[in-house]
Amino acid sequence: MTLHFDNSYARLPGRFYARQAPAAVPAPTLVVLNDDLARRLGADPAALRTGEAVGWLAGNGLPEGAEPLAQAYAGHQFGGWVPQLGDGRAVLLGEVIAPDGARFDLQLKGAGQTPFSRQGDGRAWLGPVLREYVVSEAMAALGVPTTRALAAVTTGDTIWRDGQRRPGAVLARVASSHIRVGTFQYFAARRDLEALRLLVDHVIARHHPEAEGAAGLLDAVVSAQARLIGQWMSLGFIHGVMNTDNMTVSGETIDYGPCAFMDAFHPNTVYSSIDRQGRYAWSNQPQIAAWNLAQLAMCLIPLMGEEAVAIEAATASVHSFKDRYEAEWLKRFGAKIGLAAPTGADLTLIDDLMAEMTRQGADFTNTFRGLLDGTAAGNFGDPAGFDAWSGRWRERLSSEADPQAVMAAANPAYIPRNHQVEVMIEAAVAGDMSPFHRLMSVLQRPYDSQPGAEDLALPPRPDQVVQATFCGT
Ligand code: AMP
Ligand code: MG
Repeated sequence: MTLHFDNSYARLPGRFYARQAPAAVPAPTLVVLNDDLARRLGADPAALRTGEAVGWLAGNGLPEGAEPLAQAYAGHQFGGWVPQLGDGRAVLLGEVIAPDGARFDLQLKGAGQTPFSRQGDGRAWLGPVLREYVVSEAMAALGVPTTRALAAVTTGDTIWRDGQRRPGAVLARVASSHIRVGTFQYFAARRDLEALRLLVDHVIARHHPEAEGAAGLLDAVVSAQARLIGQWMSLGFIHGVMNTDNMTVSGETIDYGPCAFMDAFHPNTVYSSIDRQGRYAWSNQPQIAAWNLAQLAMCLIPLMGEEAVAIEAATASVHSFKDRYEAEWLKRFGAKIGLAAPTGADLTLIDDLMAEMTRQGADFTNTFRGLLDGTAAGNFGDPAGFDAWSGRWRERLSSEADPQAVMAAANPAYIPRNHQVEVMIEAAVAGDMSPFHRLMSVLQRPYDSQPGAEDLALPPRPDQVVQATFCGT
């Protein structure tokens, strides 16, 4: 069984990409293969473990049917316009058609320089590759739309990062596509309406087949992003670098650079070392998403008919993000406290709990999970405020049919905690993959309490707290 390719992006005009083969590497070694995802794509995992397949996963040679390319895109990075970004260290091998007909991009990240590399070396090292592997697969298991990780390989090369030699690595990444808000911006900035029209048709066919024209597409993306950001918020997830080039039009989470799940709750939490203004703090994510969607709207307005009408329709779409997101937020946070059909009247109850969590820096994941088994109070240094809230909460729950089941499906026991991810990376670089495999196996079933895995649910001790995360690594 081999992968079946059908490369629709490569059939778009040449200005959408640069044809680019991955760079050859000295000594490809498979570090980890995602057997379930391989099967999902229609591949026999054993076939992907052969020398030939491990070779092309690292950049040596190509699988039959691949047409490698680096995609062109632009974007706003931290609000600043950059007219040309593009895949500077990633190569799209092509699109795999799964046995059920589903289409997936297969991309190698860390595959060497491309015409879009600017000053970069086009490479990745094992730490961030395994970090993306673990966090993206954890997100998938949590039920969040996301790019996936098919394989991690080392190249046999070393690369320089932070003044140290690091083992070079490549991540084989799978996505429903890698098309971003920044892909639209690239062509809009060049006033290339023909390319924009082709891109609209391409994205509608791939991701939003029910959408009609550019206006329908905009609305579908707004809706998909409102759902996605609602999910992120409900898990305490901080993306960390929500630039327009890191926002997909499919509604999948992409680009796990400086991302992190919160331990102690505070709405202003930021981890990314380069986000000094806190632009991408947890609580800012919905506003930033709306801002990014406004940039997409600007690109699409020229395709939406008469200008005044188009501007009005695009504005209405972007403004609808707020209501859609708030509905998603209420549904998700309502479920976290056991409410199957929360209404606006429940907002105060949710907000009051979160205000108390903020005041005391309660662990986000364990507080909500603790509502299930009665251990939530233990997350508060002074439980008096929580206990008072708990009385009001129990009263509200008395009219619910099965709040335990609702909470069990909304409150994971396990998230990829930063300090555990760091432990995993350190061990992997030293050649010990056992923390990786243990973390992955627990994170496959994040909503099930797993005896023996209690340590992976603990918040970090003060000396284990990860202060900053890094991107572009
Ligand atoms: P990111 O912040 O990871 O989304 O990346 C922003 C831009 O920088 C994209 O165009 C990337 O392809 C590019 N880039 C990031 N790291 C590298 C690298 N090591 N070499 C070349 N380009 C890179
Ligand atoms: Mg990116």
